[in-house]
Amino acid sequence: MPLVTVSEILTDARKRTYGIPCFIGATMEMTLGAVTAAEEISAPLILGYNEAVAPAIPMAAGMSMLVRAAKDARVPVATILDHGTSYDACVKAVRAGSSSVMFDGSHLDYEENIARTREVRRLTEPIGVALEGELGSIGGSSFEFTESAGTRQNFTDPQQAADFVDRTKVNVLAISFGNVHGPYRGDNALDLDIVRQVFQHVAIPLVMHGGSGLADELYPQIIDAGISKINYYTTIARKGALATAELCAQQGGNIIEHMLIARRIEFYHQESKRILQLFRAAGKA
Ligand SMILES: [Zn+2]
Repeated sequence: MPLVTVSEILTDARKRTYGIPCFIGATMEMTLGAVTAAEEISAPLILGYNEAVAPAIPMAAGMSMLVRAAKDARVPVATILDHGTSYDACVKAVRAGSSSVMFDGSHLDYEENIARTREVRRLTEPIGVALEGELGSIGGSSFEFTESAGTRQNFTDPQQAADFVDRTKVNVLAISFGNVHGPYRGDNALDLDIVRQVFQHVAIPLVMHGGSGLADELYPQIIDAGISKINYYTTIARKGALATAELCAQQGGNIIEHMLIARRIEFYHQESKRILQLFRAAGKA
């Protein structure tokens, strides 16, 4: 199965109303676990690399591994640079073979977000790499244990979304509707009406960042409202670490590295399968 772009697989997800998780983390264990799960239930999959992991896993190593895994998979798998912060980061991801990149200019002025996103588009478009843009900033951090909630003033404006897509020609769009990176506050308030309105205003697939850690019953509602790609990291990464810690505790000193690696792969396999099924991606590949 060839490596595909997020645009290719998400266009089908938008049309048939299912979600595709984008697992970010770029560890070998997450990658092997998620790909074998997707193969087992014939689901499409997205693997992301975020520069926040660079101190542990440099982009060239992490992204190349994702690309290799996607090329070897028996189901369509897309790779993406998550939250590319600069043109150079996007170039690096393309050089490492990624089929897709995200440029995040959501913290910039509206016109500057457009200008910078268009600049990246001039890099990606001629070589068939898909581009994700972001409009309306999404708060929080996936790598800190602070809980936060979205602020309404940063929510994506549906009219502006239409203008943004028209002028930047991005292939997929990340939006802000109360979603936050990292752990959610218990009383999180997602405004799914914003999602429905943006869905009506633009014809491309929509993305939710900060997608982990919600009640299971919310995901079908989010997908029905119009989200096709859900970035999923904090909860799964935390549970994966705890599963490993548990094995360490059980084994006392009688443990070697590959027992932990095998445990993590098994955990990510089971959990990825559960999430793909929850998002109704099973059988869609
Ligand atoms: Zn994000």
